[in-house]
Amino acid sequence: MLTRLQWLKAVPRPLRMLHGQLARRNINSFTVEEVRRRAKTEPKLALQGDMPHVMADRKYKYSEGKIYHGFQCERIEYIPDFELMSCTLRHVGTGTEFWYIDRNDANNVFSINFRTTPFDSTGLPHILEHLALCGSKNFPVRDPFFKMLNRSVATFMNAMTGPDYTLYPFSTMNEVDFRNLQKIYLDAVFRPNLAYLDFLQEGWRLEHKELCNRDSELIIKGVVYNEMKGAFSENSQVFTQNLLNNMLPDHTYGYVSGGNPLEIPKLTHKDLVEFHRKYYHPSNARMFCYGSFDLMKTLAFVDKEYLSQHKCIDNSYSRIPKQKPWQQPRNVHIPSRLDSMGATFDRQNQIAIALLMCDTTDIQESFELNVLSEVLIRGPNSAFYKSLIEPNFSGGYNQSTGYSSDCKDTYFVVGLQDLKVEDFKKFNVLFDQTVHKTIEGGFETQHIESVLHNLELSLKHQSPHFGNALLFNSTSLWNHDGDIVSSLRVSEMIARLRCSLKENNNYFQQKMEKYFTNNTHKLTLTMSPDECYEENFKQAEAEMLKQKINALDSKKYKEIYENGLKLEASQKGTENTDVLPCLSLNDVKEPPKIPTIEVQTVQNVPTQLCKVPTNEITYLKCLFNITGLSRDEVVLVPLFCNVINDMGTANHNFREFDKLVLSKTAGIDVKLNFVENVKDAKSYRLGLMMNTHALDKNVADMFALCEELLLNFRLDDTDRLKMLIENYISNISVGIASSGHLYAMLSSAALVSDAAKLKSLLSGVDHIDFMKKYVQQNSTEQIRDRLRNIGSKVFSKSNMRVAINSSEAFQPTALEHYENFLKNLPTLKNMSAKSELHLLEPSFQHFVMNIPVNYCAKSFFAVPYLHEDHPVLRVLAKLVSAKYLLPVVREQNGAYGAGAKIGSDGIFCFFSYRDPHSTKTLDAFDKTYEWLKAESNKLDQQTLFEAKLGVLQQLDSPIAPGNIGIDYFLYEVSQEMFIKYRSRVLSVTVDELRNVIEKYFKKEPKHFGKCILGPANDKLEQETNLKWQIIS
Ligand SMILES: [Zn+2]
Repeated sequence: MLTRLQWLKAVPRPLRMLHGQLARRNINSFTVEEVRRRAKTEPKLALQGDMPHVMADRKYKYSEGKIYHGFQCERIEYIPDFELMSCTLRHVGTGTEFWYIDRNDANNVFSINFRTTPFDSTGLPHILEHLALCGSKNFPVRDPFFKMLNRSVATFMNAMTGPDYTLYPFSTMNEVDFRNLQKIYLDAVFRPNLAYLDFLQEGWRLEHKELCNRDSELIIKGVVYNEMKGAFSENSQVFTQNLLNNMLPDHTYGYVSGGNPLEIPKLTHKDLVEFHRKYYHPSNARMFCYGSFDLMKTLAFVDKEYLSQHKCIDNSYSRIPKQKPWQQPRNVHIPSRLDSMGATFDRQNQIAIALLMCDTTDIQESFELNVLSEVLIRGPNSAFYKSLIEPNFSGGYNQSTGYSSDCKDTYFVVGLQDLKVEDFKKFNVLFDQTVHKTIEGGFETQHIESVLHNLELSLKHQSPHFGNALLFNSTSLWNHDGDIVSSLRVSEMIARLRCSLKENNNYFQQKMEKYFTNNTHKLTLTMSPDECYEENFKQAEAEMLKQKINALDSKKYKEIYENGLKLEASQKGTENTDVLPCLSLNDVKEPPKIPTIEVQTVQNVPTQLCKVPTNEITYLKCLFNITGLSRDEVVLVPLFCNVINDMGTANHNFREFDKLVLSKTAGIDVKLNFVENVKDAKSYRLGLMMNTHALDKNVADMFALCEELLLNFRLDDTDRLKMLIENYISNISVGIASSGHLYAMLSSAALVSDAAKLKSLLSGVDHIDFMKKYVQQNSTEQIRDRLRNIGSKVFSKSNMRVAINSSEAFQPTALEHYENFLKNLPTLKNMSAKSELHLLEPSFQHFVMNIPVNYCAKSFFAVPYLHEDHPVLRVLAKLVSAKYLLPVVREQNGAYGAGAKIGSDGIFCFFSYRDPHSTKTLDAFDKTYEWLKAESNKLDQQTLFEAKLGVLQQLDSPIAPGNIGIDYFLYEVSQEMFIKYRSRVLSVTVDELRNVIEKYFKKEPKHFGKCILGPANDKLEQETNLKWQIIS
């Protein structure tokens, strides 16, 4: 939700992920804890680059006015904020815009964007996005996109549909790979096959429930159909979608670009082909290219193979007009699904006020309104936080809160979740009062400055995915022909804002008068749970199905039957994928170079030092061992982490402390770490990590503030603590449906070992239930005392390890400040080093949720990271995902995603995502061995190599300078171990694969568990022959 103000936000909001992309993340790098904490700690994305070369030189290799391979160079500018050269080109023949960002960054990006403006909610642009990736003229295989996932070392591959754009981006550090993917992507968008059978598979279709039985009933199926049913099972998503549709209702934003499940079956294949012809024309396309690879090769290829065959057309048909401002404010009320994991029924309501702001192309104004929004909303010094959050009558801000600049018109939103209907009125009154009081009383300069400081710091912070972030953040502005190049000059925009604020004491107050007081384009959106929501949806779905069936004649019936069989045959058929390009072993032999890590003992504290080009930033991580805490204390650590930096200290109240922290650092983040022993998997450690970074010039202050927090944290204010606890509970219940596979995997792993069980209790579905009960059974005073106890036991030098990443030049200074910091920390009793891990007997859990899709998982214990079989199992997991689970669980059975993986803790996991089935999928997981045996001839060298590439994508993914060395710091996995592991992955043989298949998959594992998150199912025991624990 709310991130600290940052120039670059990770991903624009309403984008829809393609296929199983979520599932590609490594289990270790994407824990539920992280998903949840994203709101609080989303990394600030900014610049990246190992050794940025200076390009301020006037003599640049390209010049304005010149033509390069059919593209005229229109504008070249150096952007010092990010040390990049921006070149804007335009294809002479078609008018296609081409934006090239020249930057010394190995992680190169390429994307093709289209302006796509739907005029219904059938999900047309979204289904087209799926279909474009289902085979094209030069690559006539089924789903080349999915197949390329395993033939590449891409650091990112995706396609997304926004409210008015569709984009196809990828990034990779390997140039051969870059050229390969470019070919696939360009052919996919300009010459897709858009085959009818693919339309049936990806979009929607009627099909006999029993495929070979003409008399069995007809049902609706389709990947996007299911995907969107899943997407809208998350209430926060329903709210955000409705906010957009009602806020800008007059043109394309009045519709659901992803597709409303009840409207999707109105789409025809013909409409889709027609839409492609019109909107995917090169004149309506924009291309983005970022990094250090040769631009000329790209331009020559694009021109010769694609653009030169088209003529320029007028693309004004896809332009979006400004929303006409309303004369009167509007109120809209919508129903929502009753969330079985959420707050009590009477509190499960949401409200938000949205106000129309400026045109997105007015970049300075939009930038300033964004800053103003942060000043009004973020943190304990902001006006809305004081008036709406502190009185504690809700579960905190809802997910829609913030400044939205994804569309032609921008808007400001502030809203609350988990409040009573009676309090809607109070919200409205408080909103007006806050606006009024802020205009009267003005703003505190120091508060505005702390927000601006954070923004400046985020410009310096380096992210390994800078190119992608730059693309995502520019897409909307570019889509409306805004000045994307000038929008990169963030320092200049900040300077202009500072100047305006200095010249005019009432600068922000006047903006508030204009946009808040004298603004009749104001929407109040409310949402309340309806117990019949799911029933109503099912009825509407049944009604739609009935109408569809009534309209069928015998010819159509026959067609449906035949298409069902044809589709199945094509899904099961083998095909020749040789036309697809693939990397070779030589392309990936070398491991990425990582700076060396040095370990010292400073005042008895193990300290890891890393010299990296950090762009004038120093990164600090303090890891406290908390393994010795009692069970009663451990369960409170996630809450402790959440509140400890929000309560102030002995010397500063919480408002002052927040201001100080934000004006000197990027914020001090505290989080729980769960580290299994990667050597033997027989023990684990719990840690509490304090993480921060600051500009080199502020490092003394950074250490002083950390010291203040560790020594003088304060939890006295029980009213504030009570509010923070209640907001915490509301926030952990959001997002379960959208990350259901992660929760299902955590829960199924929890059935395998007591360590994983604890992990789930600390971050999984179990945590939500536990915390709700805990808060009911204990007073705030009791909780306060226990939290205080945790802090006084844990914050000690004797329990601490530290990692500092800084530039070579600054390291001595950083160390000096570090030594001073250590001097003042207390030395307490040592905590025990680790806890024993125990394996559990098999068991099965069903979390009953009021949602129309399932998330299934099965976990079993295999071997830990350093065992020789681990790399083989990891390769096998990739192979099983690509060759078995995706074709069966996704393509044939209609789940949106599915896969298998092994964690460093040794737990092997199967999962499905937004799945219409549950027991059928678990059955497929169980039949892995049978499939592996039956398809044993498929285990050839190419298949093996593709699976290895899949693992390499994870192993070689770029690391931010501030995070280099983290594996050693947390898991004690050294550089040598990593390199050995990597070469072991590359050397896995077919025989070794067969070996682990026999060893781990033939017999039912001794320690395993299955878990389902999904709707009630009374036939569960009967269908599975297992005894399930039902949790509702
Ligand atoms: Zn999709």
